Amino acid sequence: MKIFSPIINMTSAIADLFFPPVCVSCGTHLFKQEVEICQMCIRRLPRTNFEKQPHENKMSLLMWGRCHVEQAYSLFYYKKGERVQRLLHEIKYRRNMDLGKELGRQLGKVIQQAKPGEYDCVIPIPLHPKKLRQRGFNQAELIADGLAEVLSIPMDISSVKRSVHTESQTRKGRFERWQNVENIFQVSETNLLNGKHVLLVDDVITTGSTMEACINTIRQVDGAQVSMATIACAVL
Ligand SMILES: [Zn+2]
Repeated sequence: MKIFSPIINMTSAIADLFFPPVCVSCGTHLFKQEVEICQMCIRRLPRTNFEKQPHENKMSLLMWGRCHVEQAYSLFYYKKGERVQRLLHEIKYRRNMDLGKELGRQLGKVIQQAKPGEYDCVIPIPLHPKKLRQRGFNQAELIADGLAEVLSIPMDISSVKRSVHTESQTRKGRFERWQNVENIFQVSETNLLNGKHVLLVDDVITTGSTMEACINTIRQVDGAQVSMATIACAVL
C-alpha cells in the first residue's frame, strides 16, 4: 500500500492547486494547518466556555436529578438556523467526515487544558445497527475519534451497544423522549469499563434524554464514572 501514498499525496496537492480548500462556514481559503474550518470561524462561533466550570454549568445542570455526571463540556451554543446547526448538518447529512473529526480535535484541546489525564476512554453514543447501515457512519464516532487523538486515550466502540431502534425524537416531549430511550443501551463488555472514567460523546445535546439513558447504563458497571462532551449544546 505504501507505494501508492506518494501518488495520493501528489493527486491531493494538484487538487488543492485547482480547488484550494475553503472554510465550510465562511468560504475563505484555509491555511495549511487548518482542516475544513478556519480559526477565525472557530473563534467567532458562540462558545459556551463550560470547561471553565466543568462540574457545574448549564449542561451538567440539565442532568441534575436524572443521572450522575462528573464533568460536562460543549464547544458551542446551538440555535436553529444558525452557523453551528449548519456545521452539524454538514457532518451528518453531507457526510463531511473530516469536519467531524476536526471539531472533535477542537473539543479535545479544550478538555485537555481543563482536565489533563482525567479520562480513560472515549465512547461515542452508539447508533442502532440498522440506523448505522442506513446512514453509513456514526457522526458521534467521528467526533470521538478526533477527541481520542488529542487526549491520547482509546476510543471504545464495542463496550456499549444500542439494542432498540427508536423512532425520531424530534416531535416528542421530554417525558416521552425519556420513555422512548430508557432501556435502549446495554454494556456488552463490563470488564473493560470497570473503575474507568468514560468520556461519553455526541454531536449535540438537546433534552439530554439519550445521554441520560446511556450514562445510567454505563454507571451500572462497578466503579465506572461518566463525563459528557458534545460539539453543541441547545440549552440556553
Ligand atoms: Zn471560516
